[in-house]
Amino acid sequence: MARSAKPQFAGSNPARASFNLKMKKKLYYIHTFGCQSNKSDSERIAGDYEARGYVEAQSWQDCDELVINTCAVRQRAEDKARGFLYNVMVHFNALKDTNKDAKCPKIILTGCMVHHGDEKLYAMMPMVDEILPINEVGFNQAAIRKDKKHAWLPISTGCNSFCTYCIVPYSRGREKSRSMESIMEEVESLVEKGYSEITLLGMNVNSWGLEKLGIGFRKLMMKNKEFKREDLPDTQSQYLKPKGIPPFVKLLQQISKFNEIEKIRFMSSNPWDFHDELIAEVGKNKKIDRYVHLPIQSGSNAVLYRMNRGYTRERYIEVVEKLKATDPDIVIGTDIVVGFAGETEEEFQETVDLAKQMNWKVGFVAIYSPRPGTVGWKIYPDNIPHKEKKRRWEILDQIINKDNLSQRPVVI
Ligand code: SF4
Repeated sequence: MARSAKPQFAGSNPARASFNLKMKKKLYYIHTFGCQSNKSDSERIAGDYEARGYVEAQSWQDCDELVINTCAVRQRAEDKARGFLYNVMVHFNALKDTNKDAKCPKIILTGCMVHHGDEKLYAMMPMVDEILPINEVGFNQAAIRKDKKHAWLPISTGCNSFCTYCIVPYSRGREKSRSMESIMEEVESLVEKGYSEITLLGMNVNSWGLEKLGIGFRKLMMKNKEFKREDLPDTQSQYLKPKGIPPFVKLLQQISKFNEIEKIRFMSSNPWDFHDELIAEVGKNKKIDRYVHLPIQSGSNAVLYRMNRGYTRERYIEVVEKLKATDPDIVIGTDIVVGFAGETEEEFQETVDLAKQMNWKVGFVAIYSPRPGTVGWKIYPDNIPHKEKKRRWEILDQIINKDNLSQRPVVI
């Protein structure tokens, strides 16, 4: 089947929307893997389809166009998407055996696996017809949300942080904040539709509005083939400290002005842009949820350094203590990666000790899996056996999630 160079989504080509509306209604279906950002992206893709006159199919077996929104956080996540695609092909090939007119839907691949590049993806999955980089789906069309009370609201896309284990800066591109105007328009429209709870989404949600201040040294990691971790400054602040009230605090204040909005959450935040002004706002603004998700990734400064996380264990503890001092009802959840390249038993024990100290409400503990193309994959050998990683995962999972094991994420 001939492949078009780029999918023509209405977000990037509004003229196409009216053209499609005149045609017989076609059916789309979106199969989503991965995190909340992917689910939110799928809501925008659905909005784009419906703006072009498509209608959602009941299942992937019935659609004209099938979008597979992929996750690449670990190899297992990529394998799941490929397994799903395999099942789709088996299904439609079997159908063709009984009905020669049966048609396989047009298959569009998007999400984090796009980082592999078109050539590799088409070679890996020849049944794919189009590849859609997620940053080409804009915010021109209203997202299609199933929940009528709570809305996921992306306020930024991409990431500039280049944590050495993470594929996101490569798969989602550079960090880009939506304008205050565009976000507030969407909040207004959500209020008109009766929404009362909003979760602001961004890979570095609390860095919203700051990327223009970025000092850009992390680009070194992309450009310099001989890059070594030591080339980066020791004490990184990804962004220059904003003068006055940080933009994200202003945004929270603006959204809070709507009487109809009762609850505001945000994720995922980072410790490096959790300024004192934000801590004070969370403390006093009771519309902001008392649960704050703040990834630590490791309790060892040496591991954090290799991960290029840009903060220390001490800075993390400081942020949490300040937050709890503003309101003792605030609870914290976190993300941790175990078995990162070269993580010694002593380094792991530092995370264990921190877990005992922090009393996290929930911990999303992930087993490290090197992602090809990342700096971690390039410069650090993945030298912890899987069995040992799993042992470390179990220890942390028990310590952090012992009271809510039914809610904990399943290890992959
Ligand atoms: S882990 Fe680091 S690189 Fe990955 S999305 Fe989060 S901040 Fe960006």
